[in-house]
Formats: sequence, C-alpha cells, structure tokens
Amino acid sequence: MSQSPAPTFRLEQKRHVLKDFPGPKSSALAERRKDAVAAGVASTVPVYVQDADGGIILDIDGNSFVDLGSGIAVTSVGASEPAVVGAVAEAAGHFTHTCFMVTPYEGYVEVAERLNTLTPGDHAKKTVLFNSGAEAVENAVKIARIATGRSAVVVFDHAYHGRTNLTMALTAKSMPYKHGFGPFASEVYRVPMSYPFREENPEITGAEAAQRAITMIEKQIGADQVAALVIEPIQGEGGFIVPAEGFLPALAEWAKANGVVFVADEVQAGFCRTGEWFAVDHEGVVPDLVTMAKGIAGGMPLSAVTGRAELLDSVHGGGLGGTYGGNPVACAAALAALDVMEEQDLNAKARRIEEIARGVLEPLVGEGVVGELRGRGAMLAIELVEPGTKKPNPEAAKAIAAACLKEGVIILTCGTYGNIIRLLPPLVIGEELLTDALGVLATAIKAQ
Ligand SMILES: *Cc1c(COP(=O)(O)O)cnc(C)c1O
Repeated sequence: MSQSPAPTFRLEQKRHVLKDFPGPKSSALAERRKDAVAAGVASTVPVYVQDADGGIILDIDGNSFVDLGSGIAVTSVGASEPAVVGAVAEAAGHFTHTCFMVTPYEGYVEVAERLNTLTPGDHAKKTVLFNSGAEAVENAVKIARIATGRSAVVVFDHAYHGRTNLTMALTAKSMPYKHGFGPFASEVYRVPMSYPFREENPEITGAEAAQRAITMIEKQIGADQVAALVIEPIQGEGGFIVPAEGFLPALAEWAKANGVVFVADEVQAGFCRTGEWFAVDHEGVVPDLVTMAKGIAGGMPLSAVTGRAELLDSVHGGGLGGTYGGNPVACAAALAALDVMEEQDLNAKARRIEEIARGVLEPLVGEGVVGELRGRGAMLAIELVEPGTKKPNPEAAKAIAAACLKEGVIILTCGTYGNIIRLLPPLVIGEELLTDALGVLATAIKAQ
C-alpha cells in the first residue's frame, strides 16, 4: 500500500438517494432538454449534476450517487481535484487560448516532456496534442501512413476507437456507433481478437491467437501494405476484453519485423487505470505510438500521440495540429493531474481497488448470470451470461445497472453484446464508499 496521504473531500462521501428520482428539478431539465438537445445524444442516468467530488456525484435535487464510471474513465483523480481546479483557474486567469500553432506556450512543451518520459520505452520520443481520443487515433494513423508510405490499417474485432469518420471505420460495433453513418474510410482491415472467455478452442494461447491474426493479415492484406496495427491493450467499449498473455508481445514483435507501426490505443486504459501507467506495461510491450486521452487531464479535454521521434518527425511542418489542440488550460490541468497520480500513487490505488472488488465479486463467478470477472486494476468487468451457458445476457446487464442506480450507484455497461458490467471508479474513491457500492452491485447480481 502507498504511504501517500488520503485525499479529503468537500462533499460527504456517502450514498443517499430519495425514493423518487429523477426529482422535480431534473425532470424539468429533462423537458427543456427534449426541446433543445439533439435526440441522438443519449444519457445513461436521468439526473442532472450539481457537484461531483471524490466518489460522489450530487444531483440538483439533492441525491448523492456513488460514481463507478468516472464519466467513462476520465475523472481518475476526481471530478474537482483541488490541484487540478487551482491549475485550471490559474491558467485561465492568464490566457484561455492563443493557439499553439500561432503563439506557443510552455504548458504544451511541458506536457510533451512528461508524456515522453512516462510512456513505455527509453528511445527518443516526441508528442503532439489534440482534444479528443478519436482525434489522437486519427493522427496516429496519419503519422504511420506518412512514415511508412503505406495505407492499410489493421484493427481488431470488438475494437472501439471513436466516432469520427476514420475512427468509425476502425470501430467494430455498428449500432449505435456506425449505423447509417457510412460510407466509411477505406483501407481498414479487421482481424480476430484474443478473447479468452469466448474462444472456440479454450486452450488457444496468446501467441497462437496472435498468429491467427497475423496469418489473416499476411494472406488478405500483405504485410508490406500495412502502415499501422492499432489495438487497445485492454479493449474498452468492446467489453473490457483482456487478451491472453503473449498476444500483445507477439503482435508487437511481428509489427517490428515487418516495418508496421504498432499503435497502442491507451485512451481508456492509460494513466494508472489498470494499476500501471499504461496497460501495455503489464507485459512490457513498447509501442511505436501511444494514443492517450480520457484520464489525462482530470476531466479537461486533452489528448495526445506520443511515440518514436523519427515517426513523429516524418510529418512535414504544418501537417499536424488543430485550432484547440493542446489548449493551455487543458495542459495546466494535465500537469496537475499527473502530479496527483504520482503523489497519491494512483497505480497503487488502482491495484487496491482491484483487490477490494475481487474480494466482493469473485465468489459470484460461475454462479447464475456471472460468466467471468476480468480486467486489471480499476478497469474491471463482469461478463453476464444465461445461467449454465456462455450465451450473452444483455438483459441482466441492463437490469443490474438499473437496480444499482435505484440504490444510488452509477454503473456503466458495455460490450459487443451489451452484456458487460464495467467498473471504472475514480481512483481516489474511499475504500468505505467503494465497498458500500460493491455491496449494492453484488446484491443486484444475486437478485438476477
Ligand atoms: C473513448 C475512446 C476513444 C475515443 O475518445 P473520444 O475522446 O471519445 O473521441 C478512442 N479509443 C478508446 C480506446 C476509447 O476508449
């Protein structure tokens, strides 16, 4: 366990929901929203937020929810971490924007230096900053293409890389991410993932699963046509799928041998979420490029591509950028958030969260609807099945999430089949609050 000081919070770290929510204020806002906000943007929880701190989200009617989603793995340091809030205020008090491509500033350079040091490998690295995860992934592909002079991009079953045109093509799941939004970008090829729980041959090793993908690449695309292989080291939206040991190293080795740029999409798994700075660190894999976003800046929009200096520098001047990329306020937030991760040893916190969660949830595995408990650190998932089978059970996932919400615990679902309960608590969550929320979850699972 870490020796770092336990954080103190403004909001009482206690679950408290009234009988009937959404309350009157949230219901009124829902009405206004219906008239004002595009129907295509959906919300998981029907309440409107007033405040958020530590592991608690407080709504405008006075309900306190335990947050086991972190706004989709973003607020790892908390949603109002004092050092981040202070850095944001300080930076905004000087300048909110100048555009790094017009008049640059130190914060951008410092974030680049920090990421060059933090990301795996001791080779020379460089960084470019953007706003969203999708933008980072798009730019990683641009960099790989210009550096290699090739065009094909290899992605995996169950992958999620974003919602822009290129990243929709990289993403696997049609509904809701791609349905009706085509045509999609060309030269994107999908190969099988290593998904231990759902392998036809349960004995298949990570190396064999990698060879299955490699054979498909070599036969159907041609290794010398491939610019980049883009993979989430632990898949996020696709179902918190942890590939079999050896899968990632074998792919990385093949990529290296064939001049293919190995891109680790760490947008969801990065920044202490899995108990290491990056999910590839668990197997010592060193990617050529790493894409980062979500947890990077304590909730402020920022993303990055970091990787081999010669790859980043193969792009002509002016070839990378964007009006807002590496916004100075977001950079200040990132620097403060990275300090918090180090000072509070959030890697150790993530591992402790795993220990606590496994203690509560492990006994349920194999019983009833619980097919598997998997993941690393504070990125854990339960795959729900029809009892006695491996048939996906999305209804159970929905029912469990709804039952938890009713008791004041926010739980997210995911997965190609919609049958995964995923846990992504803020890494600063108190152990008492976490244990309370996991108890609610366990009760909801047992009631299935
Ligand atoms: C969320 C996510 C993205 C897209 O990030 P946005 O900021 O939503 O564009 C890309 N890759 C992975 C692995 C993600 O989890």
